[in-house]
Parts: sequence; C-alpha cells; structure tokens
Amino acid sequence: MSVPAFAWDAWYALVGGRTIHIDEVDRYLRQIREEQQPRFDGPVAAERTAFASADAASAHLKAKATAFGADIVGVCEIEASDVYGGREIPGRFAIAVGQRMLWREFQVVPSTRSAIECLRVYFTLGETVIALGDHIRSLGYACKIEHPIGDSDLLHVPIGLKAGFGELGRHGSIINPKLGPLFRMGSVATSMELAIDHPIDAGIAKFCDTCRACRIYCPADAIPDERSKTAGKDHLGNDRYRVDTGRCFPYFAKHDYCSICLPVCVYNHKEWARDFDGFQTGLFPQVLMPAAPPPVDLPEPGRHGYEKLKRG
Ligand code: SF4
Ligand code: SF4
Repeated sequence: MSVPAFAWDAWYALVGGRTIHIDEVDRYLRQIREEQQPRFDGPVAAERTAFASADAASAHLKAKATAFGADIVGVCEIEASDVYGGREIPGRFAIAVGQRMLWREFQVVPSTRSAIECLRVYFTLGETVIALGDHIRSLGYACKIEHPIGDSDLLHVPIGLKAGFGELGRHGSIINPKLGPLFRMGSVATSMELAIDHPIDAGIAKFCDTCRACRIYCPADAIPDERSKTAGKDHLGNDRYRVDTGRCFPYFAKHDYCSICLPVCVYNHKEWARDFDGFQTGLFPQVLMPAAPPPVDLPEPGRHGYEKLKRG
C-alpha cells in the first residue's frame, strides 16, 4: 500500500497555522501543484535509444540537464536507505540536479525576498526535472520525477552526497565547493543504465568542526555544538550533526522560512563573487533574530517522521 503524502497542513496546525502569506510564494505553490504535478508522468517511447556505454548515457543526460537549467548535476545508484519507508522507486539510478539561489536575495534573512527566492528556485528546478524526465521517456526509458518540494520518494540529501554535490554541513544542508549551500535539489530516478559519480572530500565537513557561524546565528538554537553519536554517518564516515527539527520548524514556519543558516555559512564566499556582477551586495547578510517560539515536537514517525530529541 502506498504511503500517504506528507501532511503539511497538519504539521502547520501544530505550530499555530500558516502565518506566512506572500502573494508570490502562494503563486509559486499553486503553480507547482496545478501546473507541474500533472506533468510528472507521461508516455514512454516504444523505441529505445541505445547508448554506446553507461558513460555515454550519463554524459548525454548531464548535458541535457544543464541545457534545461541545472547548475550542478550528478548520478548515483539508489540504495534502500535513500527511499522513504513504504515507497518504491522504479529504477536503479538517480540523476541529481541542483539549481542555485541568488545571494542578492538573501541580503536580509528572514525576509519576504528570501522566502520568494526559495520558492522561485523550487519552481524553476521543478521545470528542469520535468523536462529531464520528458526527455528520458522520449528515449524509451521509464523514470520518476522527484520534485524539490513536496511528496518525494527519495531523500534528496543522501542522493546529492552520493552524486558528488558536496559535503554535509553542520546546518544539515549540503555545501557545494562552488555554490556553497545556497542551492536546491531535485532528481529523476530512472531504469536507464548509467555511470555513477562519487562523493567528494574537499575538507568542508572537517572545516565545520571548527566553524560555528550557523550555530551562532540560528535563532532557534536548533543547530548542535557537537556531532551526534546516534544520528548516523555522513558519506565520509563522520558522525552527523543532528539539527533539532522540533526547534527549527516552528521558527521556519513563522519567519519567512528562516534560511538564516544558509547565507551566514562561510562557504558562500565564491557565490558572493559571482553575484557582484551588476549587483550591489553586502559581504554578510543582515540577520534578523526575533525570539524563537517554543519547540514543537512533530507527531510520531510516519514516512517523513522526525525523531524527537531529548532536550535538557
Ligand atoms: S532554518 Fe533557521 S531555525 Fe532552522 S536551523 Fe536554519 S537558522 Fe536555525
Ligand atoms: S556556517 Fe560554518 S559550521 Fe555552519 S555549515 Fe557553514 S561552514 Fe559548517
């Protein structure tokens, strides 16, 4: 039996309802639901295009994903631990796709502008994975769209790590050596035979052990001091940092999707440099930190369940 979609509305109800009302955000959410979701599926061409090798097939799909708007793209093999419990993926490989968010929109966080930028990229990245899925089906292979927002079957973070997107930061997001953490991810799962990429070790996770910028600026005290012994390992074998979602989410839900931990991350330096072109930007965001609401622990684990933390 298929596991039901994640109950966003029930989740919001736990923290006092939806309090973020931004017309542009609502428009993107509506477009994703009404215009993109119906395009997740489509007919698979009867005739299969053959590739000389798995390398050639991967190179072809990466070039296409880039042409469709990806800033970063990688391929990995899907393991059972990458799939939400109770879900199934019709294919062995995932093509992970990332699209950057613009530094200039995160000059003040949280803000209406940063909230809109998150949704803008969810939408445009949605177009990219839909176009890539259409292309794969036109080649005669089945595939499944894993949209960057909503009811996906794959866990985006482990897929991105295995596809070589970067390393896991203290703030729980992947840091890419070029883009920093200011990007979003989606993917397409497919039965096509592909050559895979590999996780990287650029010293980023190690650097997190001495840098604490995101931890200091997190207004909800959700980012930990130490790595957790019980939260599993990252792809380099390090204990993971466990972000307290019961503290993060109430803040995020009341303050324009927060996002403070992303632009304050020191790995945005290269992104700043790119965004100076024609834009007047600061080197560090203005960070607004109104008092955090009390933690709200989410319901017992379901498909997207989050473990409750013991707080002192
Ligand atoms: S989104 Fe905000 S509240 Fe959540 S971990 Fe990041 S800084 Fe903290
Ligand atoms: S701000 Fe520092 S500690 Fe936090 S994720 Fe970025 S590099 Fe790591």
